[in-house]
Amino acid sequence: MSNCAIVGINWGDEGKGRMVDLLTADYDIVVRYQGGGNAGHTVINEYGKFALHLLPSGVFHKNVVNVLGNGVALDPENLLAEIGTVAEKGVRIDENNLKISDRASLLLPWHRELDALEEARLADKKYGSTKQGIAPFYSDKYQKKTVLAGELFYPDELKRHLADLLEWKNLTLTRVYGAKPYTMSDLERWLSQYAEKIGPYITDTGKLLRDAQKEGKNILFEAQLGSLRDLDFGIVPYTTSSNTTAAYAPIGSGCPSVKIGEVIGVVKAYSTCVGEGPFTCEWFGEEADRLREAGGEYGAKTGRPRRVGPLDLVATRYGVQVQAATCIALTKLDVLSYMKEIPVCTHYLLDGRQTDEFPFPAALGDAKPVIETLPGWGADISGCRRFGDLPEAARRYVEFTEEMIGCHIGYVSVGPERDSIIIR
Ligand code: GDP
Repeated sequence: MSNCAIVGINWGDEGKGRMVDLLTADYDIVVRYQGGGNAGHTVINEYGKFALHLLPSGVFHKNVVNVLGNGVALDPENLLAEIGTVAEKGVRIDENNLKISDRASLLLPWHRELDALEEARLADKKYGSTKQGIAPFYSDKYQKKTVLAGELFYPDELKRHLADLLEWKNLTLTRVYGAKPYTMSDLERWLSQYAEKIGPYITDTGKLLRDAQKEGKNILFEAQLGSLRDLDFGIVPYTTSSNTTAAYAPIGSGCPSVKIGEVIGVVKAYSTCVGEGPFTCEWFGEEADRLREAGGEYGAKTGRPRRVGPLDLVATRYGVQVQAATCIALTKLDVLSYMKEIPVCTHYLLDGRQTDEFPFPAALGDAKPVIETLPGWGADISGCRRFGDLPEAARRYVEFTEEMIGCHIGYVSVGPERDSIIIR
């Protein structure tokens, strides 16, 4: 068995968490390699319902080691709160099953505040940040202006480093935004209340993964958000601030030499999007409300109603290419059961021309969807466990999608529970 990455093909919220939760049973290690507490993976299993923000979805499986790699925005405060919430429901999390890369940069107390200050400054031009400090964090990381988790083991050096960062960051806070400066005692409080408590989990995850490879163990990489939110290949600037693509997984895990054999791309059977930016297939009014209600499309982190629309095959095909997906998991097919006819977007109309190529970000706002309608199935499919159990129209929907995106659909999910899945 080869290593595998589970990634989002679209705008995020495709149901990656439920796929990782399902497939973790076959892997020894689950790694989160990018992103931070700005999105949520919903997992429903024997322990209850969880919205995981930072913790890898493998935490629910005994004997699985969960890794937060160096590519993650490591927010000690949020992580500790999440560990507390999960542990309350009887899930064991300790230094044996959770490992944090010593090279993961720490999200500092001012990052969240800077996020909110910048969104307020942007006013009606805002990017739709979740205000978890992710964009300021990654900007600072690339400026080498944050600290590594491993520095917690060098307290004198760390305090000197933090004092330098404090002096620099207070210039931005006070002079650019007119906000209150931070003090060294604010940082010392943050260290003792939060940062120092993650110490037991910190290790060299590169060595851990190299050793695991030598022992023949299998690794599952878990992405946050989707292809269209990738910092380089997404709908810039309405992207996240890290690379959501599978190609980044080896780097963000701490073990750049690791090889990934399988990339499972998760696609929702219709389109959803949280936040700002062009969303070509967007529905409004009653049609949108009906789909949003049927799919429970409200943000796992923010509770914000998600924008919804029919399946966008142009964006999905592009997402499949960007991720180099080897297999697709199509989720939430059951949600479409109420529709008599199911519209899908097969092409875009751009500059008077029909195209199946996903446009450059600056042109995307002008694209109009070309819609084709497929027959609905008008029956509850949530109990189906084999492809042959699905009504013919549902099978046709899956096969049509497969043909249009050029990738095998190996999983069809018909409910949120772990076993509500058809494996083809
Ligand atoms: P992620 O961030 O990609 O893991 O996705 P989210 O957790 O934000 O959104 C997926 C939502 O859909 C969660 O509430 C899941 O429990 C739910 N879900 C996943 N697969 C299915 C499915 O096949 N059918 C239904 N009805 N719900 C699903």
